[in-house]
Amino acid sequence: MSRQAKLLQLLNEEIVACRKCPRLVEYRERVALEKRLAYRDWTYWGKPVPGFGDPQAQLLIVGLAPGAHGSNRTGRMFTGDRSGVFLFQALYDAGFANQPTAVSCDDGLRLKNAYIAAAARCAPPDNKPLPSEILNCRGYLEREIDILRPTAVLALGKIGWDVFLGILKHRGAIPARVGYRFAHGAEVDLPEARMRLFGVYHPSQQNTQTGLVTPGMYAKVLRSVRRFLEQDLILNAEHTGKRKKTLAQGRGRR
Ligand code: SF4
Repeated sequence: MSRQAKLLQLLNEEIVACRKCPRLVEYRERVALEKRLAYRDWTYWGKPVPGFGDPQAQLLIVGLAPGAHGSNRTGRMFTGDRSGVFLFQALYDAGFANQPTAVSCDDGLRLKNAYIAAAARCAPPDNKPLPSEILNCRGYLEREIDILRPTAVLALGKIGWDVFLGILKHRGAIPARVGYRFAHGAEVDLPEARMRLFGVYHPSQQNTQTGLVTPGMYAKVLRSVRRFLEQDLILNAEHTGKRKKTLAQGRGRR
């Protein structure tokens, strides 16, 4: 197991045991007991949902929060609800997932060069975590950023966008969040953080069913992300090549 994989595993164990937000703890556990009729045979997860994906990922995806009968039931990000149906098909089409479907933790899904996290890890009532709850949860995302050191971040919706920029502001990597306006298809370079931030509208059922978000819109942004990551790999390889050459020349001069 790689160092990143071990660190992420330890972090995820911590996340799963978290009870910092009383309102969310009460809600996630109550939903898990009451259940939706269609899932009455399921044993709901009912705990915080940890991050999921490739520990070596260049791309970090930041969602909002688990769905009450989706991730809060299955225990894996975006797994088991309509948002996930849309998102994983898009990730599969763009080459970031090995299959287009996500129904349970043991369905064989693997992400390739991507890792999914969220602004809040517990299912909130009405899909709306409070600002104080997002703040309580922010440290987990910060640690994921430190472990993964992603080159690109894809924010699924304005809250993920704002939370990520809030972390950068807190760390002094940007002076303020103003000037980084969220929009679907927005892209900003963050040279101090050595990353590029991409934005898309959240793949919620409300957005996808009303046509505010379409597969074509996601495909376009994910193509940009992929192009950016490929360029970054080429630049890194060139940089490493030059560095090796310089070191070899330096050794030759001695
Ligand atoms: S939302 Fe985050 S901080 Fe709050 S209880 Fe869940 S895991 Fe803990």
